[in-house]
Amino acid sequence: MKKQTIAIIGWWAAGMMVAATLAQRKMNDDRDRQILLFEKNKSLGAKVIISGGWRCNLTTGYTQRSQLQSKYTRGREFFETSLKKFTPRSVKKRCESNGVPCKMEEDMRVFPVSNDGKDVVRMFEKILDQGWVDIHYKEWIVAIEKVWESFKITSMQDTYSVDQVVLTTGGNAYSHTGSTGDGYQFARSLGHTITPLWPSLNSFVTQQDWIHALSGLSFPDAVVHLTLDQKSQKEKWPILLTHFGISGPLTFVAASLSAFETVSADSPLEIRLQPLAEMYHHIWEQFLLDASLWSKKELATILATRLPRRFAEALLIELDIPPHIPISQLSKVYRTQLADRLGRGIPLSLIQRRPGDEFVTAGGVDTSEIDPHTLESTICPWLYMAGEILNIDGVTGGYNLQMCWSTGRCVGMGM
Ligand SMILES: Cc1cc2nc3c(=O)[nH]c(=O)nc-3n(C[C@H](O)[C@H](O)[C@H](O)COP(=O)(O)OP(=O)(O)OC[C@H]3O[C@@H](n4cnc5c(N)ncnc54)[C@H](O)[C@@H]3O)c2cc1C
Repeated sequence: MKKQTIAIIGWWAAGMMVAATLAQRKMNDDRDRQILLFEKNKSLGAKVIISGGWRCNLTTGYTQRSQLQSKYTRGREFFETSLKKFTPRSVKKRCESNGVPCKMEEDMRVFPVSNDGKDVVRMFEKILDQGWVDIHYKEWIVAIEKVWESFKITSMQDTYSVDQVVLTTGGNAYSHTGSTGDGYQFARSLGHTITPLWPSLNSFVTQQDWIHALSGLSFPDAVVHLTLDQKSQKEKWPILLTHFGISGPLTFVAASLSAFETVSADSPLEIRLQPLAEMYHHIWEQFLLDASLWSKKELATILATRLPRRFAEALLIELDIPPHIPISQLSKVYRTQLADRLGRGIPLSLIQRRPGDEFVTAGGVDTSEIDPHTLESTICPWLYMAGEILNIDGVTGGYNLQMCWSTGRCVGMGM
């Protein structure tokens, strides 16, 4: 039988999983395959290592279909097939059986117990060190062509003829790590459609510069209200105020939902930020009313029992309400205005996505052209794709890596 040659292009989350799955299958069956792995970097897994602030938030503790599905902003129906075959539980189990014990944190994010993303990369290295895979580091692929039943792969150094190709080149995010969107060109040249590409999971610059002065403050349970396609949406996650605007998980969710909106000074994305999720306007109103009856303290001091003092003072100044008046002198008009802002949300105009700091690219290869069971192209036989190159993306919390593991595994099993 002819020896099958498989080329995997791009060698981080999805590529590592494809290669490890193929390598393990190779140990267990007698089919003669040669696996070539091309990576333009000089080592592997940098983005996996920096994920989750270097700790590698490798998956989520959520296991139910509905919980998981809701976390994918695009591509959720398509992804369901591979997710079912390799679930967050499978990821955890696989890591643990390969010497990387995992822990789940309160917010359901799953990390290696060591808090060291390098352990995940070492786990893959160990599987691949067994010599099943021919690794070509520092080899930048520049073109892929279909030549009859084979593919011609051209790198900066050489050309190769292979039988099957897996594109795991990622998206455009953090392009200094090597993910420069080359895979989109390869897929396009092989007949695929690329949907519009936009940054997602990014921070935002706010027009309101009083927020910038509050850099470093965070609200663990905040709500963002926004209207997209005439539909009101609200999301509850932690948020961080920064020297340019807003960041943190809640901001990333808002970015994911609004990935295809134009955001600029001329066309800002309007949101409302409710700092404490459980404090609605009528609760704030009652709180302020009660305080005005029993306390002689200043308004800012009363608010500081619920909010960071810096935030309370800045908001009052912004609303033209004197922070240092005794609460008993707070007029009904001011009380209603304040309760409304805190309980219904402080209006913020988002005028820019922070350039270059997005975590993933929204959009990608149109999944209607891919078989969801095998991740093989329905347009170009023997071409496979996994990971961020596909038009699938989720919110923050381990969902994007989970997508890479599941689709990578499916390719490795299905080839
Ligand atoms: C800072 C940061 C933090 C993140 N944190 C998390 C997190 O905590 N949890 C989570 O789930 N997700 C997180 N993500 C997202 C997650 O890391 C990505 O979704 C994931 O890495 C995508 O994996 P991939 O294998 O599809 O592509 P990538 O990881 O982008 O890998 C693609 C690889 O292909 C190589 N390549 C590209 N073109 C070529 C070419 N022409 N020739 C050779 N090689 C090529 C690149 O060098 C790269 O190594 C984070 C992303 C960033 C940037």
